[in-house]
Amino acid sequence: MRNELKNARRIVIKIGTSTLLYDNGTVNLRLIDELAFTITNLMNEGVEVILVTSGAIGVAMGQLRLKTRPREVERQQALAAIGQAELMNIYKQRFNAYTQHVAQVLLTRDVVDYETSRENVSNTLNALLDLGVLAIINENDTVSIDELDHNTAFGDNDTLSVIVSIVANADLLIILSDVDGFYDKNPGDFADAKKYDKITEITPELLNQAGGAGTNVGTGGMLSKLTAAETLLKNDGKLVIALGEDPKIINEILSGENVGTLFAKG
Ligand code: ADP
Repeated sequence: MRNELKNARRIVIKIGTSTLLYDNGTVNLRLIDELAFTITNLMNEGVEVILVTSGAIGVAMGQLRLKTRPREVERQQALAAIGQAELMNIYKQRFNAYTQHVAQVLLTRDVVDYETSRENVSNTLNALLDLGVLAIINENDTVSIDELDHNTAFGDNDTLSVIVSIVANADLLIILSDVDGFYDKNPGDFADAKKYDKITEITPELLNQAGGAGTNVGTGGMLSKLTAAETLLKNDGKLVIALGEDPKIINEILSGENVGTLFAKG
């Protein structure tokens, strides 16, 4: 049992592209619907939730029936702009079905570097939580050229979700992925890979065990999750990486059950 997670009152949930989309690039509506139900129910219980979503480029690729992700940064930015509208449309529709209002927040990573912008973001997130509205956050890809470029190798929204957790002073970050935790080697490639239950420190050895994304829609892979986890641990945050295919796993995590991999000091 992980009793320390039972008191989490403010949580950030990050959902990855490979969980949101089927391998053929279409949107997993069942998953978004169950995520909307689970999060709304938690918010009704009084847990404060912020959602960080990836998937805008993937959704646009599905809409435009593109088979491969374009290499040109401006094309990726255009796709992000197209897909973001559709993604929010789907979220809004599913959350509204459970009477939960949502808001779109687009951020760049450097918000933490400037005190004023950091405060503005923190105030907005607090105000949204006060209003009982779910903030759905994504990277503002139109301005984040560096990030998009970076994305093709490591990025996704793992780092963004850590930044949001720090700025919002969250008790816990949950990264929902297409894998049920962090293993000593990529479980997609090695049948004998072993899952870690808890990690207290990111060591060079662990970084070596993390590989890239396993799918052509996922962009981050484990390396980006581990480096993000390192920043969170330095800020005394907690992170669980868990399998997102059934969003009810969020309830199991908050009940202290040993699912996924926990990153926490001590
Ligand atoms: P997401 O879209 O959720 O961010 P990614 O596809 O970017 O997901 O990252 C998860 C993938 O990372 C897994 O499906 C797996 O193929 C790969 N991976 C590489 N190394 C590891 C490891 N050591 N443990 C678990 N998964 C790993």
